[in-house]
Parts: sequence; structure tokens; C-alpha cells
Amino acid sequence: QNQMVSYPRIPGHEIAGEIVQNGKNVPSEFQVGRLVTVSPYSFCGKCVACQQGRVNCCPYNQTLGVQRDGAAVEFIALPYKKVFLVGNLPEEQIACIEPLSVGWHATNRVQVSSKDIVLVFGCGMIGLGAIAASGYKGARVIAVDINDLKLEKAKALGVNYTINSQKEDLEKKIFHLTSGQCVNVVIEAVGLSETFKKAIDLVCFAGRVVYIGYAKEPVEYDTSLFVKKEIDIKGSRNALDDEIKEVIKMVESRKIKIENLITQNYLLKN
Ligand SMILES: [Zn+2]
Repeated sequence: QNQMVSYPRIPGHEIAGEIVQNGKNVPSEFQVGRLVTVSPYSFCGKCVACQQGRVNCCPYNQTLGVQRDGAAVEFIALPYKKVFLVGNLPEEQIACIEPLSVGWHATNRVQVSSKDIVLVFGCGMIGLGAIAASGYKGARVIAVDINDLKLEKAKALGVNYTINSQKEDLEKKIFHLTSGQCVNVVIEAVGLSETFKKAIDLVCFAGRVVYIGYAKEPVEYDTSLFVKKEIDIKGSRNALDDEIKEVIKMVESRKIKIENLITQNYLLKN
């Protein structure tokens, strides 16, 4: 059982749906038949985080499918402010928008731009979201994983370089790929002590590090590197509504080929 989830629980927080009925005060653009995705998060609106507009990290957040029942049902009623219209995309791609937005948020936390060389640890769905967002924003991206299949997925998203850190010398390869400059942004999307520390080791002086991975145990650091390199270190969780809208634009632009992320379709069976 996932420790974040309270049970019993209906899952479903990566949502593709179709509008079948509207309430009284719903704006007219939410027409019946339109395809939508949903922000699965909630917030209190009163805490310090919420008052700064950082509602994604509200301590009172209850995510659909995690702390409240989710969308793995035939019909679900939701406030229209949580619902985002999407163009004519296949439903399996619409369902990718929410996890991609979590990676997008991480790139916003460290202000990734076309000037950056970004290293992403982990090519699971969240890491791939960070890769897609970084590439879309014009950065050069190096993807690191220990699974060649996942690295293939990163390549399909247009990543510039991939490194299998079990087969190749990570430091040497990065030195070579960046002509000795190193990377100035590291996005950690694994959650292991080793990758948490490597992020600090590998980032250049005046670099930025953002953690999305959830470490399951305490991590021990040589903190002198924080100071010596004057690293900006940030955490990142969930995503803001505006970021979900940006990801919808990215997917609709077809500049990033989201269909390449999907390995298999399964039917729901009893
Ligand atoms: Zn709050």
C-alpha cells in the first residue's frame, strides 16, 4: 500500500474525460461533448503557501485518487475551475497531461530556459515530463537512467543525450558532452539517496538543483558544496493550474511527441 493514500480509495488522478452535463453557472465554453483533463489537487486558500499563490504545496491538499476518491469511475462531478478543455487528442494522451505537468512545474521552479544544460535523473513518467518541458523551453537535455528502455523513451521525446549510469562513467560522460562546462541545472526524479547526492556533485558552480523524487530515507550530504558552489536547491511537488494549461499547449503543439511515451493499452476487466 502507498503511504500517501488513505484507504479504501477509488484511484484515478491522471484524468481524461468528456463533458456529459453542466451545472447552472458553468461558463458556456464547457460544452457537452468537449474532451477535458482535470487538476486533481485541492487547496485551503488560507495558509502561507496558498496566500503566496503556491497552492500546489498547500499542506491541506487532497489529491483525487489519493486522499479523496478519484476518477476511475464512469461519471464524476467536479468544479469547472478544476477542469481544462483540450483539443482533439486521443484520451490516453490527455491522461498524460497531469503527470507531465508535475515535471513542467519542476522546470519552472528552477527557471529552465534555452541557456541551460539540464541533467534529468530518472526517466519515469515524471522525469520524462521534466525532459519534455526542458526541451520545449529550448534547453539542452541529458537524461540519466539505468534502464535502456526508459532512455529510449527519453530519446523519443527529443532529449539531446542519454546516459545509462550503470554502464557508463557518469562524470566523464557529462564532462565530455558539455566540453568540461558541466550542467547548470539538475532535476532529480528518482528519489534515491545516491541521485540526491549526485545532483549536488554534478551541478556546476552557481547551478540550480530541483528535487521531485521522494527520498524514502534520510540523505547525508557534504554541505560544504552547497556553500562553495552557491547552489540554488529547491523542492517541487504537484503543479499549478497555469502549468497544466501550458502543458496542454505543449501537447497540442505536437512539438513533443507524447504518443511515444505510451508503451501499452490495457482494457479494464472485472
Ligand atoms: Zn493552503
